[in-house]
Amino acid sequence: MSFDSTGLDPRLLRALSKRGFEKPTPVQAECIPKALEGRDIVARARTGSGKTLAYLLPALHRVLASGKGKAGWQALVLVPTRELCEQVREEAASVASLCGADLSATSVAGDAPLRAACATAGQLVVTTPAKLAQALREGVLTPHMLEERLQVLVLDEADLLLSYGYEEDVQALAPHVPRSTQCLLMSATSSEDVDRLTKLVLHSPVALNL
Ligand code: AMP
Repeated sequence: MSFDSTGLDPRLLRALSKRGFEKPTPVQAECIPKALEGRDIVARARTGSGKTLAYLLPALHRVLASGKGKAGWQALVLVPTRELCEQVREEAASVASLCGADLSATSVAGDAPLRAACATAGQLVVTTPAKLAQALREGVLTPHMLEERLQVLVLDEADLLLSYGYEEDVQALAPHVPRSTQCLLMSATSSEDVDRLTKLVLHSPVALNL
C-alpha cells in the first residue's frame, strides 16, 4: 500500500514524500483510511510502530478540510509527559511545515503560560490533560470555544495517561467534547481502565489491534 491510496489531502502526500516517507507502516495503513471516514478510533499500537503519524496525519487532514485556515487551534493531542509534548509537536511540525498550507503545531507543557500559548497557537496543540483541565478551570478555554473549534481530540499513550494519574483531568474534559469532534485513542496495552477511558470520550469507535 502507498500513502496515495489512503485518501489523505494531496498537500500532506507531498509533504510525506518530501520527508522521504514512502509507504505507511501497518498501523498507519489501518488507521488513516478509517479515520478519514470520520470514525472514532481506539488503536492498540506501540511506540516505534509509526502510531504518532497514524493519528497526526488524519488530524492534519481534518484541519485542512475544515477550511478555517490559520484560525487558531482546531486539533488537541493529549500526551502524558512534557517530553512527549515536544516530540509529538516536532513530528507534526516536520510534516506541517512541508505542506505549503500555513499549518503549524504548538506544544504547551510545564510552566508555559497557557493563555498566551492558546492565543497564538497553531492549528494543532499538543499538551497534557492537566494543562487542558487547568485551562478549562481558569476559563482560558471555554466549553463554547471547544464547541466552535474542536475538530479532533487525540488521547495518546492512554495507558500511561491513566498510570500517571490523569483520569480525573480527562473526566473533567469529557462532558465538554462536542459530539462532532472526532476522537482517536492510542494505547500500547489494553485493560479495563483503558476501556473505561475509551467509553468516557469516544463514540462507537472502530477498534484496531496492531
Ligand atoms: P512512532 O511509533 O510514532 O514513535 O514513530 C517511530 C518513528 O518512525 C518516528 O521516527 C517516525 O518519524 C518514523 N516513521 C513514522 N512513519 C513512518 C513511515 N511511514 N516511514 C518511515 N518512517 C516512519
